[in-house]
Formats: sequence, C-alpha cells, structure tokens
Amino acid sequence: MSSHIMPTYARLAVTFERGEGAWLWDDKNQRYLDALSGIAVCNLGHAHSAVHEAICQQSAKLLHTSNLYQIASQEKLADKLIQMSGMTNVFFSNSGAEANEAAIKLARKFGHSKGIDIPTIIVMDKSFHGRTLATLSATGNAKIQQGFEPLVEGFVRVPYNDIAAIKTALVENKSIAAILVEPVQGEGGVNIPASDYLNQIRALCDEYDVLMMLDEIQTGIGRTGKFLAFQHNGIVPDVCTLAKALGNGVPIGACLAHGKAADLFTAGNHGSTFGGNPLACSAALAVLNTLSDSDLIAQAAEKGDQICAAFQEKLQTNSHILNIRHLGLMIGIELDTPCTELVGKALNAGLLINVTQDKVIRLLPPLVIDVDQITQLVETLSTLIQEYTQ
Ligand SMILES: *Cc1c(COP(=O)(O)O)cnc(C)c1O
Repeated sequence: MSSHIMPTYARLAVTFERGEGAWLWDDKNQRYLDALSGIAVCNLGHAHSAVHEAICQQSAKLLHTSNLYQIASQEKLADKLIQMSGMTNVFFSNSGAEANEAAIKLARKFGHSKGIDIPTIIVMDKSFHGRTLATLSATGNAKIQQGFEPLVEGFVRVPYNDIAAIKTALVENKSIAAILVEPVQGEGGVNIPASDYLNQIRALCDEYDVLMMLDEIQTGIGRTGKFLAFQHNGIVPDVCTLAKALGNGVPIGACLAHGKAADLFTAGNHGSTFGGNPLACSAALAVLNTLSDSDLIAQAAEKGDQICAAFQEKLQTNSHILNIRHLGLMIGIELDTPCTELVGKALNAGLLINVTQDKVIRLLPPLVIDVDQITQLVETLSTLIQEYTQ
C-alpha cells in the first residue's frame, strides 16, 4: 500500500478490480458478495449498463463546460429530480458534505431574512453530516470533531427521535432558523425514529416558521423502499440533501429546496466549478430513469423485509442480538458486544459488511441483490455471528 496516501482510513487489505451487480472480484480473482454498496452508493449494483452507457456517450461528446453556460443534462436531471421528489428546485454539488453546506447556507440566509443575527440550526445526537468544517460541526460525534476546533457556530444539539426536546429548543432559542435531521441515522447506528417523527417535525417547523431540512444522503435514491425516505410520511421538507447513490458511483450531490426555501439563493450566492457537470448529470439521469422505469424501489422494501425476517429466524435463539431493524434495505443488527472484528471475518468469508457505533452491523446491499445472494448473505453472516458470540 502506498505510504504517500494520508492515512485517514484504516483500510482492509483487499483491492477490488471489477464488479457486476452485487458481486465484486479482487485482484486475485476472488469473488465477494457486496452487502454495503460502497456505503449506500452503488444502489443499482456495480457496472450497471445504463450508467455505463450514459457515461460513455457523454464522455465522447463533452465532459465539462462551466456553470457559466446552460447545461442540458443538468436541466434534464433537475426536472427529473423535481418530478420524483415533489421539491421545487435544486443546486448540484459533488458530494454529500457539499450538499449539506448548501443547506446550511440556505438556513442562514433564511434566518437573516427574518432578522435573526445568529441563525441557529437544531441538529441531533449521533448525526452524521460530513467532514467539512460546517458539516462536522453539525455532526453529533465528538471523535469526528476532535482536533478540528474551533467548530463552526450556529448549531444546537438535541437527542434523536425526541420531539419534546426539539420543541423545548424552539421555545427557548429565538435564533432557530432550521432543523437538520436524517430520516434514519446511518453512521449513528441505523437508528429508525418513531414512524410519525418527521410528521411532527414538519408540524413544528410550520408552527415556528423554521426550515425542515432532511439529510437524505444515505436514505435517498430508493434505499428505504421509497425514492426518498420522507415519502413514507406523506410530507415535503423545505430542504433535502442527496449524494451517495445519486450517481451510482459517479460523484454528484444535490441540495433540493421547496416552498419558503426555494427562492433563497440568488445569483452569486453559491457556486461550484464541477457541481452539475455534464458527465455527472448524465450518470445521475441514467440512475433516476432506471429507478423510475423499474420496480427496484418497491423491491428494496420487499427484500429488506425478507432479509430481516430471515435473520430474525436464524438468530432468534442468540441472546447477544439486541435488535434487528430496517427500513427497506437499510439494515441494522445490534449486538450486546463490540463486533467490529466481524468485518474482517466476513471479508475472509467473501462478504462485505460494515459495523458502526461498535455494536451495530450495518447492511446496505444493492437494490438489485437477487434471491440466491440474499440466501448467501443471511447464511454467511448468521454463521459468523453465531460463531463470534459463542
Ligand atoms: C455519507 C454521508 C454524508 C457525507 O457525504 P460525503 O459525500 O462523504 O461528503 C452526509 N450525510 C450522511 C447522512 C451521509 O451518510
């Protein structure tokens, strides 16, 4: 491994060379089942033909011009995103953190428009919003912030899935301009809130005239069994951020706005050299067309149910399993003991998984995972968990 790469990641000793659907092959031609999708990025699986073709066609024509000019594929992608999300308009970025930066800037602009001097955003314990200075300040994880103080100001933190705490913050702090929250916390441990949590937040945001901002970077693009997770609740947020699976591996993020957040940015307020460039937008458009022309999103709901039911059955007598939970194909298996070691054991058994918060096995398989692969996932991982907890 090159010593010239900054050691920001504790990497596993494997190099993948190619993939197909939920399969990956390493440089020794060993095959692996991918139950992580590059952390919820390759929702359509690896080497998806529609994405491949879109990239090839676009790169033969034009990779980049500039946001100084009109970009046809960006406009088409915006139309499609608006149609699928029910939002009003969009700013394109290159990553999730950048999409959240745009959201945070929208919240501040909104606050100032209401005469608030220090617009403040309510954020959650155990949240994850990215690694830039503003987004790590919004993130509810001291390890991510440590060493990078001073943090960006303008955030107050409350426990996740606690409506009363949000209400108290809104009553006590007249500077609140927005609430930023994940519909399901991914990095935080696959934490699924009460089914009416988002509805209650929507109602509070209306009552107190603050922006409801959802970080759907991990939950979006079909992952939870709806195109966007807020669509389970029949509400529309004011701001919604996307990235990860939007380009199925081609870097692209988006900050969507609606209603009172829709027209906050004006010319010169925000920008990006690469954001919304022709290549990334062509890939993302292929992703969205593939999702809307198939029943893959519905399959995410069904497959999530199947996988969890199968794990429940296999592990029902294991007293070390605290909880198996999921929303669509966002799956958490919580143990009563640290289990990060399982990642290496699974890799040796040809399976890619993740452990977050030390004790939660996180599975984010591609939406295209098939019946045989589901069986293999459940068999392999159940056996490893049984051995590990013995
Ligand atoms: C991954 C993630 C981010 C950060 O996205 P990057 O593209 O890595 O900047 C932000 N929020 C959530 C919920 C995420 O899962």
